[in-house]
Amino acid sequence: MLTPLPPTILVLAGHDPSGGAGIIADCEAITACGGWGLSVPTALTVQDCRNVYRVMPVAPAVIIETADALADMQIAAIKVGLVADEATLAAVETVIRRYPGIPVVMDPVQKASGGNELSTVGWVDTVVDRLLPLVDILTPNRAELARLTSHLEADAEDTARAVELISRGCQAILVTGTDDPLPHAPADQVTHTLHTPDISRQWHWPRLEGGYHGSGCTLASALAARLAVGESLVQACEQAQEFTWQSLSHGYLPATGYALPNRR
Ligand code: PLP
Repeated sequence: MLTPLPPTILVLAGHDPSGGAGIIADCEAITACGGWGLSVPTALTVQDCRNVYRVMPVAPAVIIETADALADMQIAAIKVGLVADEATLAAVETVIRRYPGIPVVMDPVQKASGGNELSTVGWVDTVVDRLLPLVDILTPNRAELARLTSHLEADAEDTARAVELISRGCQAILVTGTDDPLPHAPADQVTHTLHTPDISRQWHWPRLEGGYHGSGCTLASALAARLAVGESLVQACEQAQEFTWQSLSHGYLPATGYALPNRR
C-alpha cells in the first residue's frame, strides 16, 4: 500500500563521502525524524573521519537548477549546511527566497572538527548580510557564534552575541556548547542554549567521551525535520537534541578518526 510522502526538507549542504557529516548525514537524520530529505549538494569535499582536505563548491547555476527541479515537491522546511564561498551563498539565497514562509534552519559550519577551514574569508559578512535575514534558526557552536560576531569585544558573552545576530534578522539561535564548554560549567555536562527575542532556554546533557564527526549536521537536520512535521520551536529543539545525543551515545567507531553518529 502506498502512503503520502512525509514532509519534505530541502537540504542545501556539502557532501562528505565518509557519511559521518554532510548531506548523507542530513538525509539520514531527516528520515529518522519523520521527514523526507531532498538533497542539493553545495560542495563536494575530500575527507575522512579525521579532517577535511579539500572543498570544491558546486557551480551556483547547478545549485539553483537542482533546487528548481524539486519545486513541486511541497517543501516544508529548508536546511542549510556547508556553503563554502560567496558565490554559493548567493545561490543559496536565491533558492531560499523562492520558498517564503517555511522554516529555514542553518548550521553555519566554518571548520571541520579536525581543524581545517571550510569557508572563505568573505564568508562571515555574506552570511550576516544576506542569509541571516532569511534564517529562522541558526545552530552555531560557540566558536562559530564568536566568529559571526567578531566585531564585538573579545570577552562578549554568548547572550550579547546572540542578540546581535538576532538584530541582523535571524529569528532564533541554538548555541551548542559541546566543543567549547561554558565558563564554570561542570566538566561532565554539555549545555545548549536557545535564544529568541522572547525566551532563553538551556538544556544540559551528560558529556559523552571522545570526539564525533557529524554531530552538528545531525542536530540541525533533526531540528529541520521536527519543525517540518509541525513541532513548536522549543519542542523541536528539545527533540533534535535528544535524537542527536542518542545517535552519538550509540555511535560507530571507525578504524581511525572520530566516532560517527548512529542515526538509525
Ligand atoms: N564536511 C561537511 C560536508 C560538513 O557539512 C561538515 C560539518 O557540517 C563537516 C565536514 C565537518 O563535520 P564535523 O565538524 O562534525 O567533523
